Amino acid sequence: MTMAQLYAEVVILGTALDKTLHYSIPADLAERVRPGTRVAVHLGNRIASGIVLSAVADPPDLPPAVSLRPILRVADEPPLPGDLLDLCGWISSYYFYPLGEVLALALPARGRERPARPVVKSVRLLRSGIPEGIRPQGKAGQILRLLEAAGGCVPLRDLRAGCGNCDRPLRKLVEAGAVAFEESASAPEERSHGNGPLPPPVDLTEDQAAAVSEIAPLLESPSFQPFVLYGVTGSGKTEVYLRLIEKAVESGRGCLVLVPEIALSAQMETIFRQRFPDILAVWHSALSDRERGLHWLDILSGEKSVVLGARSAVLTPVKDLGLVIVDEEHDGSYKQEDRLRYNARDVGIMRGMLRRIPVVLGSATPSLQTVQRVAQNAYRRVLLPSRVLDRPQPEIEIVDMRREGRGASIFSARLRKAVEQTMAEGRQALLFLNRRGFAKHFLCNACGHVLQCASCSVSLTYHRGEDCLRCHYCGWETTLPERCPACGHAALFPHGFGTEKVEREAQRLFPGARIVRIDRDATGSHESLLCALDSVRSGKADILLGTQMIAKGHDFPNITLVGIINADAGLQVPDFRAGESLVQLLVQVAGRAGRGDTPGLVLLQTYNPFHFTIESAMNMDYDGFCEKELESRKALQYPPFVRLLKLLVTAGRNEDACEGARLLASICREKAGSFNRSGRPVAVLGPSPAAFVKLKNRFRWQIFIKAWKSSDMQSFAEIVLRSVGGDAAFRNVQITVDRDPANEI
Ligand code: ADP
Ligand code: ZN
Repeated sequence: MTMAQLYAEVVILGTALDKTLHYSIPADLAERVRPGTRVAVHLGNRIASGIVLSAVADPPDLPPAVSLRPILRVADEPPLPGDLLDLCGWISSYYFYPLGEVLALALPARGRERPARPVVKSVRLLRSGIPEGIRPQGKAGQILRLLEAAGGCVPLRDLRAGCGNCDRPLRKLVEAGAVAFEESASAPEERSHGNGPLPPPVDLTEDQAAAVSEIAPLLESPSFQPFVLYGVTGSGKTEVYLRLIEKAVESGRGCLVLVPEIALSAQMETIFRQRFPDILAVWHSALSDRERGLHWLDILSGEKSVVLGARSAVLTPVKDLGLVIVDEEHDGSYKQEDRLRYNARDVGIMRGMLRRIPVVLGSATPSLQTVQRVAQNAYRRVLLPSRVLDRPQPEIEIVDMRREGRGASIFSARLRKAVEQTMAEGRQALLFLNRRGFAKHFLCNACGHVLQCASCSVSLTYHRGEDCLRCHYCGWETTLPERCPACGHAALFPHGFGTEKVEREAQRLFPGARIVRIDRDATGSHESLLCALDSVRSGKADILLGTQMIAKGHDFPNITLVGIINADAGLQVPDFRAGESLVQLLVQVAGRAGRGDTPGLVLLQTYNPFHFTIESAMNMDYDGFCEKELESRKALQYPPFVRLLKLLVTAGRNEDACEGARLLASICREKAGSFNRSGRPVAVLGPSPAAFVKLKNRFRWQIFIKAWKSSDMQSFAEIVLRSVGGDAAFRNVQITVDRDPANEI
């Protein structure tokens, strides 16, 4: 009997093709072509990589005399898991982004063929003690001691670096059953970390135990259910995650753990490495292409079943996924602001829904979107209402800066005294300011001109260390001119301040204090950041000073004082979410205080002590804030009560961008008319220039679409984009879709 010919429907990776292509499946490959298989195929006159979506018996209708070309090769890794394939399809249609590009993001090296997987050889200690017939002073003895000190497993390469050629003693140790060789596809950097001593297992607090037992049943008989682990700072959310992961792993399932920024989650990473030394893959942007490729294969094969990483980890091919955790789910860094403008928290929830498994969203300050879904009973709330070991919440005190004398713009008398006292007691202080650099900008005292970036409508920040002016958007740098470029007067003065100036001021006020500054300028690289964090942890610093990089996640028990230098930064941002972000930030920063045995104090310097947002932070009343803020969002018809979509129109010339946006808005209004007549309300707002009308030499205009139902938004945007596609009137502009936009920039 001959087998019926099968055809594969293939998505070409890394292209904007909006359709799939069909190829015939050669008989000898038939066994290996499955949905999710990566294949090489002809595309025009080149060879391209693609992913098989489905295998079908009926080829699509073709003009006569055209025959389908065959699949050329099949990659030797397993196919992508079905839920990941479904997820990519959902992302493509929800965010209006080509499927081939989405899938390329889910693969390690974008669409390229990967090299064969190199193997890392390691030596593992099988038992402790020196076996008979081995001389403790000899080389074999040295190897054993080295292995023991390193926690039991060392890459062969490192062993050779430490002991020279050691093939013979190693062979002897293998024969004696003391050690064994191990081969793995993971990078040695990774493995040499993971074998530290296990921390003492803690007893869960009553609240933690209750949280685990509320969520755990859904791991045993899985179904889709988002939980909000709503726990105040210091309530021990991490331990709840760990217990849930243990349970999932025990029943043979994989886990995906998303954190906002992996570089800032060093402590979490250490704990995870200790608890899951052999099955953990840490996914972050500092990985080399090669490491990324190796991790990816280990994740796909199921060898690594726990994946910890920042937003792009949501697209890793975790096998038999049983649990998704999103830590600090409210965090803005889950939203990607270029190319595929997705929110990894939302994508993580969707992945859980497609796999029908529980999703845990953890936060001390959940997003209003999440709070609203709890109110609608779509998400279940699990509370951790107090800090572990009865540690009190810090005390918060407002410092009214309007009452300070002139010249006290950085340190109030109250904050100054508190820092001195904290240092005298041998404890540490954290100073927070959400602006880096020295001066906020340079202003001409004669004409009021503000020095601006040449490519962006953004004022330049002065960095005193390097004596330069820098654009915080595009990175452009220039030296300080002697005269105002607008009026020619030599009257340029710095205004406002950033972390660099706070550092100088702190050095002056607290002579002898050991100050560690953490921001993108001071600790740009991963290593320098880890180093700085470590010096705080080990007590080599008195004052930790920095931007939002120090605001969240860190657990430094000896920090008892938190000074928020300027709580108002963020109040004036023209965005309906400004208040929400500010309260979240202030509560998170305040949460860094008093995490050890001594209670903490938070001093909040503000010029707006009676502003609702500032008051909510002072009272640590996040629930109260949410209640009032939701009322106002409802009254103004803002998310989460409506859906938003931003159409960003950019061009090299302002006239083109403006004209393109006008035309697009009129098309939107025309389509909206017929939508509204058929009872599917959508509203079109704009066009208006973006908050930064020029960025990196491109001019930016925007249109907002409001819809009351997600399905209406979907079909409306589809119709608009279809009618715009290929329209010559738009050839000078680029149109970007940003669904559920995070800000109005
Ligand atoms: P959160 O993320 O909720 O702010 P963490 O998970 O960082 O809190 O935990 C805060 C501190 O409490 C950590 O130092 C952690 O080791 C400790 N901790 C967590 N659970 C327990 C427990 N059951 N018993 C003792 N200490 C705990
Ligand atoms: Zn710029």
